[in-house]
Amino acid sequence: MNPTQEQPADTVARLRATFRTGRTKPVEWRTTQLRRLRAMLTERGADLVESLHADLGKSPTEVHRTEIGFTVREVDHTLEHLAQWLRPEPAPVPEHLAGATAWTQYDPLGVVLVIAPWNYPAQLLLTPLVGALAAGNAVVVKPSELAPATSAVLARLLPEYLDQDAVAVVEGGIPETTALLAERFDHIFYTGNGTVGRIVMAAAVQHLTPVTLELGGKSPVFVDRDADIATVAARLAAGKFLNAGQTCVAPDYVLTDPETARALEPALAQAVEALYGVDPQACAEYGRVVNERHFDRLSALLDSGRVVTGGRGDRATKYLAPTVLADVDPKSPVMQEEIFGPILPIVTVADLDEAIGFINDRDKPLALYAFTESDATRERLAAETSSGGLGLGLPLAHLTVSDLPFGGVGESGMGNYHGRYSIETFSHRKAVLAG
Ligand code: NAD
Repeated sequence: MNPTQEQPADTVARLRATFRTGRTKPVEWRTTQLRRLRAMLTERGADLVESLHADLGKSPTEVHRTEIGFTVREVDHTLEHLAQWLRPEPAPVPEHLAGATAWTQYDPLGVVLVIAPWNYPAQLLLTPLVGALAAGNAVVVKPSELAPATSAVLARLLPEYLDQDAVAVVEGGIPETTALLAERFDHIFYTGNGTVGRIVMAAAVQHLTPVTLELGGKSPVFVDRDADIATVAARLAAGKFLNAGQTCVAPDYVLTDPETARALEPALAQAVEALYGVDPQACAEYGRVVNERHFDRLSALLDSGRVVTGGRGDRATKYLAPTVLADVDPKSPVMQEEIFGPILPIVTVADLDEAIGFINDRDKPLALYAFTESDATRERLAAETSSGGLGLGLPLAHLTVSDLPFGGVGESGMGNYHGRYSIETFSHRKAVLAG
């Protein structure tokens, strides 16, 4: 039968039958799948370059860096360390059990579901897949329907390269995902917004299925008065305007004192020009907003402050200029929701105390960034705020460190992955005692 015509219940049953045979458990099967996935990415990278340009106007450089290269690095890191990560870990036994031995071992969970979003539609589907396969599971992956070209490429290529009885791609939108969520999985890994995150978690409750929710939120950037403004502007602009601001850990807004804000304004305008030239619309490196709905949503946020640079767009091509807004009132529309687009508001605060209060008054963000030369300020931010990750001087880069867990806290999500943390997520750590 053509697997694409399968009902969700049949897909899950087919994968569960494979899992029951034990085929996915040996480390050799796992590493073979990872090597094939790597081959897919290197041999068929051109297909992804094309689809990601069609979906999001991504440049080949950006695709190689943030989608293909990122995933290949995750595969290589996993292949290098997997055997060591999977080693059973001895545990000391108490005196009354002297002579017995105890250890923990990682058991695969079974059949897991990975639901991916549209903003990095390959990386955010394939990186969880790397972890799920490395942990020895059968996997159903559901790409985002809002990146249709990439969804189609993944649906075509993954079955060509991977064990089709253990990995299934289900394409579609809300009806297809709803149908999948009615099935019993052993873990659900969801990346996307918090509203759908709640739907996923509610569905998981029916089967007592554990979930990982990789969500978003407004990630603040604190800029201290002692920071080097040119460096701050260059790094902020590069992190913010990558993928036209559609990055879950993109700097959402800047918090700084009024004097630093005045210095930052022209520096950010210069940094944007250094990245994309005087006319970013003509620059191949600058991406596009995913669709008209998001273009309209973002355009409505442009009058939330004084335009320092950018501020214009073209609906027909979904181009929205890299935009910096100054004098932004915390009560303005742009400060009410995650921006998820190329608009960077600057909000002024008197000092670090007020910045920490501002951050703690709001939902826990996926990332917090700070530019400061002061160790005391770094320590206070680390100790007095809560966020999924903390980036000191380097926006976005923490998620490229495979040895760091990547995930949110509170409204920005639950659970984490990357590297050995993916093994934790997609396995059960079983306690064993042998008398
Ligand atoms: P999206 O619209 O592509 O949705 C994500 C997935 O949910 C898709 O596969 C979609 O088909 C499915 N979905 C949508 N509605 C559904 C429903 N009613 N029932 C079941 N499934 C449904 O992507 P999005 O949510 O717009 O993504 C943007 C959000 O994701 C932002 O908030 C961003 O910060 C967050 N995000 C987080 C991370 C992270 O790693 N933490 C990464 C990227 C994006």
